[in-house]
Amino acid sequence: MSKFKLDHTHEAARLSWVESANVSDCQFPIQNLPFCRFVRTGQVCVGVGIGDFVFDLTGAAQRKLVDVPGLSVGQLTQIGAGSTELRHVIFAGLEDGGGWASHSDLLYPQDSVEFLLPFEVGDYTDFYASIHHATRVGSMFRPDNPLLPNYKHIPIAYHGRSSTVVVSGSDVHRPSGQLKGDQDALPAFGPCKLLDYELELGLWVGQSTQSGQSLSVAESAQAYLGVGLLNDWSARDIQKWEYQPLGPFLAKNFATSVSPWVITLEALAPFRLPANLRGTQDPPVLDYLLDAVDQSNGLWDIQLEVLLSSAAMRAAGTEPYQVSTSNAKELYWTPAQMLAHHSSNGCRMRAGDLLASGTISGPAIESAGCLLERTWVGPEQPRRPVQISNQETRIFLQDGDCVCIKGRCQRDGFRSLGFGQCQGTIFAGKVRH
Ligand code: MN
Repeated sequence: MSKFKLDHTHEAARLSWVESANVSDCQFPIQNLPFCRFVRTGQVCVGVGIGDFVFDLTGAAQRKLVDVPGLSVGQLTQIGAGSTELRHVIFAGLEDGGGWASHSDLLYPQDSVEFLLPFEVGDYTDFYASIHHATRVGSMFRPDNPLLPNYKHIPIAYHGRSSTVVVSGSDVHRPSGQLKGDQDALPAFGPCKLLDYELELGLWVGQSTQSGQSLSVAESAQAYLGVGLLNDWSARDIQKWEYQPLGPFLAKNFATSVSPWVITLEALAPFRLPANLRGTQDPPVLDYLLDAVDQSNGLWDIQLEVLLSSAAMRAAGTEPYQVSTSNAKELYWTPAQMLAHHSSNGCRMRAGDLLASGTISGPAIESAGCLLERTWVGPEQPRRPVQISNQETRIFLQDGDCVCIKGRCQRDGFRSLGFGQCQGTIFAGKVRH
């Protein structure tokens, strides 16, 4: 069963017996139905977002309302290829007049529950799939030749660290590390001074493979359970000194924040766009990365924004500053190409693995997905600070700063979907998650 097919669950006129899901600007109408995990009286539960509530799918499984392996024990890892059927069952239960209205005791207000990571993350890999990000960052080091020759042929990535992937709302400590400025003769150890965020999508693998098995692009396109928001916190001064020749290490692995919601591939079906929207995949990619369907619908139209607030702004009740707006359609590589490439050498994938898109930047400076780009003017020129309030500017993040990523899908004729948020606040010193 294709996860891209439009069906009755996408019809805009369909309503839920959960009234808050029917409000026009609601993030979680019945057409969305994102998965999450949360704690209910000490038990780990799977939930589905509906209106202002989480509907407890673990409770539903224990009452035999739904029969999918793993749900009754609070796990999303065993849904596998059955996600479309599960969506249909949940939709029928939560639709206006649906059979689960008599189980409204399984609804919990979202602001009353503790969210967990959607999966116990097995492995985490961060890609570099935005050509605007790669070009702008490349131009800082190579103004005449910003894009490396491999970029349009191979999806670039590095292996990240799953142990410090944290759910939205977790505080993030300012890391210490080796720093060496251009004028310094020797490195010194101390707190990072150039702390940054990276606006990314988190792609949740929903199906496992065997070691030695490769997924085609077509198989990869169906192998994700869904998508969330991700902030790949980055220490730019640590990164600059350590990254050659093997890539990022301690500059990246101190924290990665993700939103608690998995927006399913099925929910995203109306918002698919061609991979070559702007004729970007030229030169042609190798055959194992090329799939006609993926070229025609391999990206999503997801509006993204980054909001920044300082501790002083929050104390004064000042609204967060919108520091960037971007869109997932700006990616050069499709999520299916990323997974196909990742498994092309037989690397084993497991349900709950997390692939990140890389920083999603657009062509305009206001759509830059990190401060490294956002405050950069040009070679040999001082960075231009962003005015975040009447009193404060930023070049990089200060202690107490809160970064919040949000996402939205909109298309005429369909209900708008929200992604919730991915939020973290910077702390000096160490914090235990
Ligand atoms: Mn990144």
